[in-house]
Amino acid sequence: MAELRRTTWCGEVKQELVGTQVCVAGWVDRRRDHGNVVFINLRDRTGNVQLVFDPGFDASVMSTAQDLRLEYVVAAKGTLVNRAPEAVNDKIPTGHFEIKISQVVLYAKSEALPFQLEAAEKVTEELRLKYRYLDLRRVAMHRMMKLRHELVFSIRDYMNNLNFYEIETPNLSKSTPEGARDFLVPSRMNKGTFYALPQSPQIYKQLLMVGGMERYFQIARCFRDEDLRSNRQPEFTQLDIEMSFINEEDVYDVCEGLMQRLWKQFLNIDLPRPFRRYSFDEMFCRFGSDKPDMRFGLEINDVTPVFAPIQIGFLQEILVASGKVGALCVKNKIFSRSELDHWVDRVTKEFKSKGLIYVRFNEDKTPTGPLAKQLPATFFEDMKKQIPDLTEKDTLFIVASDFDDAWDILGKLRIELGKTLQLIDKNRYEMFWVTEFPMFEWNKEEQRWDAKHHPFTSPNAGWRDLPLKEVKARAYDLVCNGEELGGGSIRIHDAQTQAAVFELLGLSPEETKQKFGFLLEAQQFGYPPEGGIAFGVDRLVMILGGTESIRDVIAFPKTQKGSCLMMETPSEVDQKQLRELGIKVL
Ligand code: ASP
Repeated sequence: MAELRRTTWCGEVKQELVGTQVCVAGWVDRRRDHGNVVFINLRDRTGNVQLVFDPGFDASVMSTAQDLRLEYVVAAKGTLVNRAPEAVNDKIPTGHFEIKISQVVLYAKSEALPFQLEAAEKVTEELRLKYRYLDLRRVAMHRMMKLRHELVFSIRDYMNNLNFYEIETPNLSKSTPEGARDFLVPSRMNKGTFYALPQSPQIYKQLLMVGGMERYFQIARCFRDEDLRSNRQPEFTQLDIEMSFINEEDVYDVCEGLMQRLWKQFLNIDLPRPFRRYSFDEMFCRFGSDKPDMRFGLEINDVTPVFAPIQIGFLQEILVASGKVGALCVKNKIFSRSELDHWVDRVTKEFKSKGLIYVRFNEDKTPTGPLAKQLPATFFEDMKKQIPDLTEKDTLFIVASDFDDAWDILGKLRIELGKTLQLIDKNRYEMFWVTEFPMFEWNKEEQRWDAKHHPFTSPNAGWRDLPLKEVKARAYDLVCNGEELGGGSIRIHDAQTQAAVFELLGLSPEETKQKFGFLLEAQQFGYPPEGGIAFGVDRLVMILGGTESIRDVIAFPKTQKGSCLMMETPSEVDQKQLRELGIKVL
C-alpha cells in the first residue's frame, strides 16, 4: 500500500498554511457527492477539515473519492486553500479552509457502524459500551479523555514541584480494610492461597513512610467488590498521597493548592483559600450528610419540641425512645396532591423511611394535610419558633425516627428536592473540608463497631476516656458540590494504639497478627508521625468535565453489574486453567 505521511492535524489547518501542500489522515466523517465534485469531511483527534476532490485531477484519485464511505480510513494530500466566501462554515474552526486533493490513499474500509456517532445520545448505553471503541470516536469522548490526560499530567507536575516521589505499589496484594469486599486472585504457585487486589495502597504508603520516602504520591488503581450503586466502578483511580512529619494543616495546604491549580486550569475559577472547615456533627445536623451540597439551602430543622406535647401515638412512641423529629421547609411552594404522593412514595420506598409527613397551611395559617386534625391551633406559631422564616406559603416535609435515620432520610430528600425544584446553581463550586469525624460507627446488621474511615486513622488525644460513639478521629474529607473529592487522616503512630483499635473493631490478636502483623512490627522500627489523603480521579474529571456519569470519564468502564459488554467479562475459564490453580467451581 502506498503511504502518505501526515503533515498536519485536521483540526489545526490555519491561514499560514494556505497555498502549501498539506497531508491529513483520519476517518471519513461526512461525504457529499455532487456528481463531478466530491466533498469529504475528514476527522481526526483534533477536529474536522473539508477535502475537495474535483475531476480536474487524476482519474484514479477521483475514483477512490467516489468509493469513500463513512468511517473509511484515508490519508489525503493537496493544497490548502481558502473557501469561497459563500462556502465558509463558521460553525467549525476550520470552516474557512478546504484542501484540494491531489493524492489519496485508502487505508481501510468500514462496515456501516452499529450506531451513528452523532446520534449516540439516542441509542442505549449498552450498545455504546458494546462498541466502546466506536463510541470513543465521538468528540465528547475525545474531550473527556483529553481532559483526563491533562488533569493527571497537571497533578504529576504539581506533586513533583512539591518534592513528592511517585512510587508504584503492587496490585497483587493482601486485603486492606477500606470497608468493601476484596477481589481475590488465586495463586498457582502456592495453591489454596490468594492475593487480594488492593482496595487502596493504604498499608503500602504507610510502610513507604517507615521506609523514609517522606512524600509519596501515586495515580493508583483501586479495586472494591461492591454492589455498584450509581457512579461506582469495581476498579477506579485514586490520587493517593502520604507525607511524614506533618499534621492536618500540611495536608490541607498541599490539597488546597492542588485544587486551586486544577480549578484555575480547567475552569478558570479562582478558589478562595483557605477552604472553609466544618465539623462532621455540624454538617450532619444541618444537612443530614457528611458531604452536603451547599449550593442551596433547605437545611434540616429540628422540630422535636413542637411535637413533644402533641399526642399522636406513633410520634410519641418514637419520642419516648429518644427519637427526633426533623423538618425540611420548602419555601413558597404549594405542591399538588400527586406531587406529594410521589414524594411520600419515594421516601418510603427509596430511602426506606417508615413514613413522610407533609404539612401545608391555609391562608389563616391553620395546618392542612393528613395529620392536620391532630395538630393544635398554635401549630404554625410553634413551628415558627423553630423555623423563624416560616410562612403560610411554605410546605413542610417531616420525618420522625432515631436521629441518625431521620436526618439521613431528610438529607437524601433534601438533595432530591433540590434537583427537582432546580434549587442548585450548576455554575457554583462549594468546596470545603469536613473534619472531626466519629472514629467508630455502629454496624447494626453485624452488631459491632466499624472504623468510620479505616482502622489506621488516629483517634483524637484523650479518646480512651470517652464512650466509643463519642470518640472523634483525626480524619478529614474534601467535599465539593455534594461529592466527596477526597478523604484521609493522620495515622495511628504507635503499635499499642493500633492494636487497641483492631481489638475494638473485633479483631482477635491472632487475626491481627495474621492480617497486619507486618504493620505492627514496622511500627516498632522508628515510625515517623504521618498522614495522607486520597482523591477520586474519576470524580475529579467528572466535576471538571461537567458530566454526571462516571462511565463518561473512563475509556473502558464496567456496567452497573460489573461487566464489560465489549469483552464480555467476567467470563468462564478453561477447566485446565482451573486445575492449574487447584480450583473447582461449585
Ligand atoms: N486509603 C484511604 C481511602 O482510600 C485514603 C487515605 O486514608 O489516605 O479512602
